[in-house]
Amino acid sequence: TGKKWLVMIRGRIPGGVMNSNQWKVFDDLATEYGNNTLRVTTRQSIQFHGVVKKGLGPLIKRINESLLSTLAACGDVNRNITVSPTPATTRARDEVVKDAYLVTEALAPKTPAYHSIWVDNVQLNLDAPENTSFTDPLYGQVYLPRKFKTSFVIPPSNDMDVFTNDLGFIAVVEGDKLLGYNLAVGGGLGRSHGNDATYTRLADVIGFFPREKVVEVAKAVLTIHRDFGDRTNRKHARLKYVVAERGVEWMTAEVNRRTNGALSGVRRFEFTSTTDTYGWHRAVDDSDFLTLFVQTGRIKDVEGHAMKTALRQVAEKFPHIEFRLSANQNVILANVPPADRAGIDALLKSHGVKTSDQASILHAASMACPSMPTCGLGLAESERALPGIINRIEKLTAELGLASEEIIIRSTGCPNGCARPYMAEIGFVGKAPGKYQLWLGGDVSGQRLNKVYKDVIKEAELEAELKPLFTRWKNERVTGERFGDFASRVLLPEAAVAQAAAAAA
Ligand code: SF4
Repeated sequence: TGKKWLVMIRGRIPGGVMNSNQWKVFDDLATEYGNNTLRVTTRQSIQFHGVVKKGLGPLIKRINESLLSTLAACGDVNRNITVSPTPATTRARDEVVKDAYLVTEALAPKTPAYHSIWVDNVQLNLDAPENTSFTDPLYGQVYLPRKFKTSFVIPPSNDMDVFTNDLGFIAVVEGDKLLGYNLAVGGGLGRSHGNDATYTRLADVIGFFPREKVVEVAKAVLTIHRDFGDRTNRKHARLKYVVAERGVEWMTAEVNRRTNGALSGVRRFEFTSTTDTYGWHRAVDDSDFLTLFVQTGRIKDVEGHAMKTALRQVAEKFPHIEFRLSANQNVILANVPPADRAGIDALLKSHGVKTSDQASILHAASMACPSMPTCGLGLAESERALPGIINRIEKLTAELGLASEEIIIRSTGCPNGCARPYMAEIGFVGKAPGKYQLWLGGDVSGQRLNKVYKDVIKEAELEAELKPLFTRWKNERVTGERFGDFASRVLLPEAAVAQAAAAAA
């Protein structure tokens, strides 16, 4: 037809952890086969946009040669497992990462076709008995009803938004010792406009289990999805609907049945934040780490801010450093010997990349999905629109004397919710070009879903929509009350009353 198809390729990068060599490979691939940018995703991966068909093969092969993969980064399988990346809090993080790798391997599809097609380039003998009768030991012949998301988180930071996952492991640490995990099941944010049978849901925490059982428990939850998920309707196929409809007690009993009674009572845990710790900090092992803000997750070179080149040079000149992608779409340089700190600082700054005061308070707490032009599902702009939207909100809050207040703001181009807008204090969810659903009321620690405040607002009328809400927040809030808490306490109940009155009239 002469058409040129552009595809998106996503890496499978467990916990978002990359060594400097892997970073260089991804950087090269973005230049050679992508659109010269690296897109950090909300699941600690990197996407390449704009890959043409002839680039597919070499790109996937070279990712595999770097000892990362693209296997199961998309599809109805367990996706890239996310793990808290911040090295500051506990030495037990290393153990949590080890467990995440174990689960990654245990839940990976065993198909020989992936390597045959993309890595070895050797035709499978489809007549050989091991291929004709091949059935994946976990996924069977028809895989899962829908995608499956897994996350490991280390309180008190909920930088993973763990309750939005099908399967969440909340680390229980005593001193620096990892005892095990509280198990969270049945979270998910995807929904469709105008279809109330689809909804956002937070995972339920159903019990504690010792870490030795982590693979067994992971397989139990995944196979419950496999066995009970709805295979007739993709919009109703996620594990969250199984848990919601069959109940938490049923789910707990089913996990126990499949794990020989692994679960005991939930251990105490507390989350205090979801955002990243920007700038330079000292880790528990006395190395240093630097969290760099990446606007909407897009690493690129622009006039005066050559972040892609700067990070490439860090990888070349400091090969012992680890790159970690955060689920907030940022990059952490970890395992930095204190002696290297000044050199890295200078290198970044020479490319216009600041290492302190990197972003204003609202930008620093924001996230956007890619949407147009790279995601075919986008109904409205997201990545390209959010920075401008935040600038306008900043002007508003400054005028009202609220400039020092953090508000978590996220946008997506459609209701699938890839940038988790339903956990934000303000969420913009695309409905049509220039039009968004306005969601309000998420909390600071990712433990409360927000709700629709208004079904459609026009981007052009942003100030007129938000100024009255901010004004009321300023005048009516209790001391120190965040915007999301105020919206949940005051604005949403009022909107519900008004809606009910309108319906009755
Ligand atoms: Fe695409 Fe929708 Fe996901 Fe945005 S939220 S990346 S528009 S699927």
